[in-house]
Amino acid sequence: MHTAIYECMKETDSLGLQSIAFSALGTGAMNYEPSFVANSLFDTVKRYNVQNPFTNIELVVCVVYQDQMYQTFVSVARERARRKGYGAKSSIAKTSGSTKIGNTHIKVSVGDLTQEGQLKKTSGLATEILNTAGRNIQTELDNNYPNGLKTGDFAVTNGYGLNCKKVYHGIVQYFTANGRNDRPEKTLFSFVTKCLTEANKYGSESIAFPALGTGILKFPSDIAASIFIKATQDFLHSHPRTSITDIRVVVYGGNPSWSSIQKAYRNELSTGRAVPCSNFLTMAVPKRGTTEYFRYKYNENPRPPTNWSHFTCDKTIKDWISMQGVNHFKLVKPDQRISDDIVHLFLSTIQLDGAEVVSVMRNENLKLYEEYFQECQKLYSRAIATGPCKSLANTPGSRGPSLTMQYANRQIANLLDSDLNEVYLFHGTKKDRVDVLLHNGFDLRLAAMNFKSLWLGAGVYTAEEANLSAQYTERNGVCTIFVMRVCLGDVFTTKTHMTDLKRPPCKSFCKGICTQHKEFFDSVVGEFSQREFVVYDDAKCYPEYVIQYQVVQRPPEPKGGFY
Ligand SMILES: [Zn+2]
Repeated sequence: MHTAIYECMKETDSLGLQSIAFSALGTGAMNYEPSFVANSLFDTVKRYNVQNPFTNIELVVCVVYQDQMYQTFVSVARERARRKGYGAKSSIAKTSGSTKIGNTHIKVSVGDLTQEGQLKKTSGLATEILNTAGRNIQTELDNNYPNGLKTGDFAVTNGYGLNCKKVYHGIVQYFTANGRNDRPEKTLFSFVTKCLTEANKYGSESIAFPALGTGILKFPSDIAASIFIKATQDFLHSHPRTSITDIRVVVYGGNPSWSSIQKAYRNELSTGRAVPCSNFLTMAVPKRGTTEYFRYKYNENPRPPTNWSHFTCDKTIKDWISMQGVNHFKLVKPDQRISDDIVHLFLSTIQLDGAEVVSVMRNENLKLYEEYFQECQKLYSRAIATGPCKSLANTPGSRGPSLTMQYANRQIANLLDSDLNEVYLFHGTKKDRVDVLLHNGFDLRLAAMNFKSLWLGAGVYTAEEANLSAQYTERNGVCTIFVMRVCLGDVFTTKTHMTDLKRPPCKSFCKGICTQHKEFFDSVVGEFSQREFVVYDDAKCYPEYVIQYQVVQRPPEPKGGFY
């Protein structure tokens, strides 16, 4: 073990490299004791440093996969530091997420990094600065701002005792969820922007933030993270040649909620936005599943989904359309992570050897999505009065949640609203229909043409298993399957065919055409050997992703009737 680590470092050095990362060597299949590995690593790094005083290596990183393992490494590090009389502080940080925009890395970590000049957040920024940097900062502030700072002010001082060149100060008001009109979110957003602008002007290469607002200001961590990431993204997009290559957020490990704060930032970094960003500058987004949230969504001016990258959600759809003129449609190659997630949904249920994905594209169609979202808003308006839709899993006669959502990870699931039973489902179609569907969506008027052959009447049919949808594609060559957003709402389930349906049944379960009830289901799920999901409004589904694939073997001929 010692030799392996030592040789790796020697090789790194001989290449003139400055950093090296190790896994928790040997703790996997080899079954080495974690504390032995941790000690070996620390011992060898130390020995290497002693024997090679002119080494290039400045940074040795140990990447630990499991939480338990991480705890072991941290406690070994602490124990070693304690024996040397270094005190309990350890500069080990738990990196929880990072991303790159242009040339700039954004990194979130948890730790106690005051010793490296980064600020922790306990009794508020000002106190902490004074504790760490000494009185000089206060003196400089007093000289420059004899009347003190007020909300929205921005001040710059030198770093003094802190290991940094400049310190930025601002006053942001407390976050209170109700009855306020002073917009603390906006102040925080503009503070982040000012810090980055100033650092860029100064030519700084790196800047570190605490998890702004999550301490005594009491911002909910998702909102604080959302504001920070959004402000940072906006800045980087408008300053593609900025000097800043390194942006860090250090979540103070001493904050009792460090874990949820870390999670919020991780979500923001990975999904772009965990909380819908819409209007967060003017109002807080209520918690999902609450009546306030339904009311908020009902009143919301439609925006593109948070995962779109060409038409981003920082503008409303109306703003985009008036800007773009007639050009409201774009096929976009999604980033690798989303693409992998979508392919995973597909491959999990295609169940064909030799199925090979050729491409995945996202259909960013503003007008079509606007119509879809307006359908969702009808359900939000109902939810204000009657609460969320009954989940598919709890719907009588249902065999459970959709398979697609069982295969979806949290990032994918977060994009959808489970309170409306919004799901991703598959729809297979022939090549010659793809373009029209992407541009205009579905047209149920055409369903009447082969009305009699449809098991559940005249609707748009989708499936939770890609191999069912595959039966409606070409029989050879490159085929197309859509991954659709479908808003199922309240679901009616049936085990028998109902070929004359033109809309879902009423909630009093009348047979035939109901003329006396006002409440209807929103969709029908055929609980057949493979389930079929049917909506009866064109706009209740949206063809968001287009998967092109090819297979060597073909599925059997269709039995039922998709149109
Ligand atoms: Zn009825």
